[in-house]
Amino acid sequence: CHTDLHIIKNDWGNALYPIVPGHEIVGVVTGVGSGVKNFKAGETVGVGYFIDTCRTCYSCSKGYENYCPTMVLTSNGVDRDGATTQGGFSDVLVVNKDYVLHVPDSLSLAGAAPLLCAGVTVYGPMVQYGINAPGKHLGVVGLGGLGHMAVKFGKAFGMTVTVISSSPRKREEAVERLGADAFLVSQDPDQMKAAAGTMDGIIDTVSAFHPIVPLLDLLKPMGQMVVVGAPSKPLELPAFAIIGGGKRLAGSGTGSVADCQAMLDFAGKHGITADVEVVKMDYVNTAIERLEKNDVTYRFV
Ligand SMILES: [Zn+2]
Ligand SMILES: [Zn+2]
Repeated sequence: CHTDLHIIKNDWGNALYPIVPGHEIVGVVTGVGSGVKNFKAGETVGVGYFIDTCRTCYSCSKGYENYCPTMVLTSNGVDRDGATTQGGFSDVLVVNKDYVLHVPDSLSLAGAAPLLCAGVTVYGPMVQYGINAPGKHLGVVGLGGLGHMAVKFGKAFGMTVTVISSSPRKREEAVERLGADAFLVSQDPDQMKAAAGTMDGIIDTVSAFHPIVPLLDLLKPMGQMVVVGAPSKPLELPAFAIIGGGKRLAGSGTGSVADCQAMLDFAGKHGITADVEVVKMDYVNTAIERLEKNDVTYRFV
């Protein structure tokens, strides 16, 4: 995940070296404590972006523990005992049962791993904001790790899916291979204008600075856009872009444990996995370098 790259390079100034990255984790249970009833040895499980939350704050009590202010991150976090957490690039992991997910047996381990971050990051807001109803029109902005998952979930929900991208060369990938219904080049004003006012919801996954007014124009009145990519430069939002048409703009970060489990169950039912390139652990430094150059088809595992 790109977040690992940011942490390794200390882009956000919060690196706790030495770092063991990784928060898209799938593995097999080797043992459970005596109080654990819902998991057993030999079972395939997953761990996502966080491994503990306070369980008492507003967010935790409402089931939005992914917004708990004192959550313990899976990697580069500070655990309750003060130790730095070490993520999924390790051989073994000890995790509280409440933050472990059941991974359906039908999914490949490699293809399931990115669901724990990329998958829930787009699935969560789609469900929270009702951008998951059959027949509705979903716009997916950006076709990377997050975007390709949004296309797959959108199609599985029975939606009409349009991919919006700055690179015209992604059309074939989006439409032919991932099954999107349409493709818009964001820099083509004629294409964008022709699609104005047609979308019920938009998931914006782009993490580079980009204009969002042309995207908001794609929404129907009362349409919902959700930002899940995080450009470091502030996005520009003139009030008129959302006042006309009563459009709604929200942000969303990862997902709750319940959302994550629901997403995995849904993925299992519909055979949805991430598209990945599987590499050996001794290739990890090269993989990180390639990730930095965007030289990866969606996700390394
Ligand atoms: Zn991630
Ligand atoms: Zn909390």
